[in-house]
Amino acid sequence: MIIRVPFLLLVSLFILTACDKAAFPQDPDAPIAVQEIVVLAQSGATSMLAGQSLQMTASILPTNASNQKVTWSISDPSTALINSTGLVTGLIAGTVTATATSTDGWGISGSLTLTIDNEPNGDPLALYQKIYGATSIYLDGNYVVIKTEDLPDHKSPYYLGTQWETALYENYNGNNSQFKLNPNRIKKQNMTFKIPLNPAPASNPQATPLGSIGISLNGVPFYNQYAGPSQPLTFEVNSFDQTNGHPQMSGQYHYHWEPLYLTANFGEDAFLGFLLDGYPVYGPMENGQMVTNGQLDVYHGHAHATLEFPSGTYHYHITDQDPYINGSGFYGVPGTVTN
Ligand SMILES: [Zn+2]
Ligand SMILES: [Zn+2]
Repeated sequence: MIIRVPFLLLVSLFILTACDKAAFPQDPDAPIAVQEIVVLAQSGATSMLAGQSLQMTASILPTNASNQKVTWSISDPSTALINSTGLVTGLIAGTVTATATSTDGWGISGSLTLTIDNEPNGDPLALYQKIYGATSIYLDGNYVVIKTEDLPDHKSPYYLGTQWETALYENYNGNNSQFKLNPNRIKKQNMTFKIPLNPAPASNPQATPLGSIGISLNGVPFYNQYAGPSQPLTFEVNSFDQTNGHPQMSGQYHYHWEPLYLTANFGEDAFLGFLLDGYPVYGPMENGQMVTNGQLDVYHGHAHATLEFPSGTYHYHITDQDPYINGSGFYGVPGTVTN
């Protein structure tokens, strides 16, 4: 008996082990292979915006698979990027597939197709709101209405004797030895510019009028290259103050030339405002070079992508040569200005 008990125990153990092997044919030491990978995006999303990121997760089945590691890849790295943790960053609009592949050597993978959309167009007035000198800016149908009191936010000798003299008067300190203060002084205006929201080339471009032809960032209007009907600026330039502005008879302050205060503050290559046809006006520099009139068409503009218009637009450049801001008229169909 003393011998039989351990023998029976051994037999029982053997049978138990055999049964175990029959019921679970896998070698308990063998790795449990990955059979399926399910890829899901955070919150179950299937689309995202360019410029934003979305986290992917890979669920490995069976859940007790020995190797839980995956590597991430993306079908089109020019449309979106994916990092080693499955974070997708959209670059441009398009469709991509994010794939998680098991590293267990059997090549099991799972994937998810994602649509990347462009950022929806933000506020259509965002660019117009750069006209910080405006008193109000709003949409009226297909027009942007911009109101200004036309009080320059920089010093000028033309604030002499006005209610703003203490804060804003400054004697002429420019470099024109012929400078002569004209008899006009800056007066508050009540100007309303109505410019097309979606500018379009004119089939018969119109000449610019005397008076306001556009509005600059500080709410001061742009004027054209004439002092009067077919009268060049020859003598008038001597009354331009140190920022290249001066008031006309009714006290309306304006720039015929580069607004030096704005280019000093925002850059020689900056977006400086709009002409009445809704096309933007830029400074005299581009890509580190001064723009020459030879690079511009007869209206004093040309078309290409700019910082504010990455998909390209017609735009004017202010140069230091006649006709300075605009040439032979508006490239587009102009809106209106009232005062
Ligand atoms: Zn003038
Ligand atoms: Zn340009």
